[in-house]
Amino acid sequence: MKKIRYAVIGGGINGLAVARQLLLDNPDAAVTLFEKEAAVAQHQSRHNSGVVHAGLYYEPGGLKATLCRRGVALMEAYCLQNELPYDKCGKVVVALEKEELPRLDAIHKKAVANGVQDVRLISAPELREIEPNCVGLRALHSPHTAIVSYGEIAQHIAKDIIEKGASICLNAPVRRLQELHSEVFVELENGEIHPHGFDHAVACAGLQSDRLAYNSGDLETPKIVPFFGQYYVIDEAYKSHVKGLIYPVPDPRFPFLGVHFTKRIDGQMTIGPNAFISLGRENYSGERFSLRDIADYLSYPGFWKFASRNVPAALRELKTVASSSTFVLEAAKYVPSLANVGVTPAARGIRAQAMEHNGSLVDDFVIRRKGRITHIRNAPSPGATSSFAIAEYIVRNLEGQF
Ligand SMILES: Cc1cc2nc3c(=O)[nH]c(=O)nc-3n(C[C@H](O)[C@H](O)[C@H](O)COP(=O)(O)OP(=O)(O)OC[C@H]3O[C@@H](n4cnc5c(N)ncnc54)[C@H](O)[C@@H]3O)c2cc1C
Repeated sequence: MKKIRYAVIGGGINGLAVARQLLLDNPDAAVTLFEKEAAVAQHQSRHNSGVVHAGLYYEPGGLKATLCRRGVALMEAYCLQNELPYDKCGKVVVALEKEELPRLDAIHKKAVANGVQDVRLISAPELREIEPNCVGLRALHSPHTAIVSYGEIAQHIAKDIIEKGASICLNAPVRRLQELHSEVFVELENGEIHPHGFDHAVACAGLQSDRLAYNSGDLETPKIVPFFGQYYVIDEAYKSHVKGLIYPVPDPRFPFLGVHFTKRIDGQMTIGPNAFISLGRENYSGERFSLRDIADYLSYPGFWKFASRNVPAALRELKTVASSSTFVLEAAKYVPSLANVGVTPAARGIRAQAMEHNGSLVDDFVIRRKGRITHIRNAPSPGATSSFAIAEYIVRNLEGQF
């Protein structure tokens, strides 16, 4: 019987999880993964907070809610089976002001509707039992929220899929995918066409996903607009001031979750990430810029609509970009004993956030299939938590088609 041939574009955690799922469901399939870098997981899948989100915030019934919940179970099982570190350190979402209490209640309702286990609202004294140095009026406690290293997990999946027979082509940037006579052809940036066609291709190109999709005949929008997030590592001597994860109640006027304390799987304690427009989609140092990437969003009407609506958020974030002490003070509202803590900058992350033409940030995951080509068009946080479930969702959608 003829082997089904799949191309997967992108060696981040989603592309790797898709390749793995294809081989789990069809061990005889021929799977080729194309990655533009010299190694897998060099972008979002390496530069993130490392949190296995329990599913607190997401609209019940949406893809994020469904795939995050399923993703948590699959992620925990994968880490357990493969002896990869998985620490259920727990998370509190803390209300400092009375005005935040209705929003905290709303998150609790969503979490319950999403089936998050053992999540509950707690009083200030209960909060102090969990996080002795944290202040707040009330909080939401999610005891099963966990931390991992997604970079390490991605590398492990890469090893797995090679053992299962997949080929990983590194240094292989794909310019476009073309469906022709019931086959998909993969054209590389240097103009070379991969020697054979594929029965289906799945593009998981993260920060480049809109470009690859558009070049391959998919819609131009939503476009990726890159927002960086900085992190600071707090001095070793102070890291015991926080036990797990401490988050603010998200402010609906601001598009991201707000600066929080995140324990890392290597034992470090970080503060971050903030969120500000990046001068390049892959500009991790913050010192360089990409004219192409900047021109891309400056010429996008959606960006200007977004910018005009988010001036207060931009100013707030800019203060944390300009000064590490403002950054620390923002977080120290929750843990006052850390107001003067020393911090060291850590690697930043850059979010592949899809934006609509009307300037709204796309909230849910967007996975679009046209003919024999499937594109992930939006997979921001909790995209890593959900990766195995995203893979299941995509692959089950292909089954029985060829
Ligand atoms: C600051 C930050 C914090 C986050 N925190 C969390 C968190 O705590 N928990 C969570 O669940 N999620 C978190 N996320 C989101 C999570 O990191 C992403 O959802 C996830 O990593 C997306 O994986 P991906 O494989 O889709 O994309 P990526 O990891 O970006 O991978 C895309 C891959 O495609 C390759 N590629 C791109 N274009 C091409 C091309 N043309 N040809 C070949 N290869 C190509 C890239 O080189 C890259 O390897 C965070 C993200 C950021 C930025």
